[in-house]
Amino acid sequence: MAEILLEGLSKRFGTEEVLAPLDLTIAEGSFVVVVGPSGCGKTTLLRLIAGLEEVSSGRVLIDGRDVTHTAAAARGLAMVFQSHALYPHMNVRENIGFPLKMAGRPAPEIAARVQAVASQLGLGDCLARKPCQLSGGERQRVAIGRALVRAPAAFLLDEPLSSLDAELRARMRLELARLHRALRTTMLLVTHDQIEAMTLAEQIVVLNAGRVEQTGAPLALYHAPCNRFVAGFLGSPTMNFIEGPEAERQGAHALGIRPEHLRVTRAQGLWPGRVDVIEALGAESFLHLSSGQGRLVARLDGSADLRPGETVWLTPAPAHLHRFDAAGRALPQ
Ligand code: ATP
Repeated sequence: MAEILLEGLSKRFGTEEVLAPLDLTIAEGSFVVVVGPSGCGKTTLLRLIAGLEEVSSGRVLIDGRDVTHTAAAARGLAMVFQSHALYPHMNVRENIGFPLKMAGRPAPEIAARVQAVASQLGLGDCLARKPCQLSGGERQRVAIGRALVRAPAAFLLDEPLSSLDAELRARMRLELARLHRALRTTMLLVTHDQIEAMTLAEQIVVLNAGRVEQTGAPLALYHAPCNRFVAGFLGSPTMNFIEGPEAERQGAHALGIRPEHLRVTRAQGLWPGRVDVIEALGAESFLHLSSGQGRLVARLDGSADLRPGETVWLTPAPAHLHRFDAAGRALPQ
């Protein structure tokens, strides 16, 4: 287990700055998720920490040791990529044991370590199988096992779930959370999937165009985003934004209200609206509405009996109204 400290870390490719100087502490044993849109610099950040890319400025410290110019292999970190890249001709036992074999460890030690890791990951019954005989989830666990077998100081995970289908992805998300709870090894995961970030992270780092927008616990960011980008990036369906006279009346350039905080009634409320489309998911429904404030989305209980075309009233919960200035910064609630 290790603490990873980034001090003023930045990266330029030619004249293009893809990561602005960044300070970040990844506490020992914690699970930190870096989330942001495609191209915002997530993979570059991981590659800098792993030592696969030269930094343009700043330092990387692992447990207080400056590793900025240390070779990747000597940093004691394990990287798990989105394409699980297992060796197709080796079985699970050989795949997991490969790093130890390369390190010249004796065969009995390799066998014992592989056995321990495989049972930890629930792969005990698949040791003799080749990757083509495994499910996507099993392949992913083998990739993690191959990293785990070297007892890394920390895991760096680059979109490890993105190649899986939706159901498997949800299962593996849970498995990753369980694995972290069992191992308490420091984990840094990057993803563009905000659900992955919300459910896995103890701490989220929201990255946008090479800059950190906000860092904090998932629910803290969800309830108190520091700007419009973070407010709109976290949450699904996304936050409603309202500009114009209604926002000005409340002393803001824009108002933000999450779908679950927009009350929909037949009795008079604040704004009239019309139901355009209802997405009924069973336990809950998403109502897509037109109103004088523009198009809005409300999240309702699945039992709500509204119909498309119906006129309704909309009232935001005052305690959950976010206000933003013209630069997109959150104003005090
Ligand atoms: P995605 O979610 O799509 O994988 P990302 O957030 O991981 O994106 P990066 O892969 O870190 O983003 O890339 C950040 C930016 O740096 C992109 O604009 C990319 O084109 C650029 N970039 C990455 N690697 C290089 C390179 N070797 N040379 C030049 N530009 C690069």
